[in-house]
Amino acid sequence: MNDKSAHTRSNFGKRGTDNADFPKALVQFENVSLKYNNSIAEKNRNLALDRVSLRLERGGFYFLTGPSGAGKSTLLKLMYLALRPSQGDIEMFGVNVGKADRDELPSLRRRIGVVFQDFRLLPHLSVFDNLALPFRVRDKAPADYIDDVEELLNWVGLGKRMDALPETLSGGEQQRVAIARAVVGKPDLLIADEPTGNVDPQMGARLIRLFVELNKLGTTIVIATHDHEMVARSGAPVLRLEHGKLTQISAPHRAANSRH
Ligand code: ADP
Repeated sequence: MNDKSAHTRSNFGKRGTDNADFPKALVQFENVSLKYNNSIAEKNRNLALDRVSLRLERGGFYFLTGPSGAGKSTLLKLMYLALRPSQGDIEMFGVNVGKADRDELPSLRRRIGVVFQDFRLLPHLSVFDNLALPFRVRDKAPADYIDDVEELLNWVGLGKRMDALPETLSGGEQQRVAIARAVVGKPDLLIADEPTGNVDPQMGARLIRLFVELNKLGTTIVIATHDHEMVARSGAPVLRLEHGKLTQISAPHRAANSRH
């Protein structure tokens, strides 16, 4: 078998759709509550999330909205397995994460790409090395990832800045590196917390187009945002949080083929 065929340009990020073992719901929350132990949250409310139930379909594109403090970041942290629920059940990729063995979690985490609001790029590493690091940590041979890293940096328009240090890039460029790093491991689920918060509207629209392209290749996308205009324009389903409760799960309000 030719291993390289899995890494050809046209195949980057593509997901198989015919795997019968792969459940249709990628993420399922059942009555999930989260209370921070050190909670100094509002006096009359100490649950950051209050009995949230939701189901994200494989291949879907979702927005998560709600006022500041509503619990968006908390919900995302549960989804990318940085937190465990205080109550309720979370199933990711068909695995109940509360009941999973601790050593099962790293392989689940590798199926999730995260774009953090503050980028979290490593300042002493070049753009290329920021993307290559996860492979190096896992002792992968450079031949296994160089093409993917370069292809991805070209795709986000940073092919000429691979050797630059993050601090020499603009906010929008750093944001694109953060997105490239989140997807270089070909995650099944991409989670982005305010990915357009630090860029101008034009760059924001461009970043959303990158997410849409990834989604077309089969990656499930969840984006937390305050950008109402972007959400309204997209027509993608919206999860809305208020005071830790899920108050809305809307269906797309435009035909799927005109949604982005
Ligand atoms: P959002 O992302 O919608 O702004 P968060 O999920 O960050 O909301 O916060 C939800 C609630 O949980 C807020 O009341 C916040 O103060 C509280 N909270 C968030 N992180 C922590 C933490 N590490 N410790 C204690 N309380 C927290």
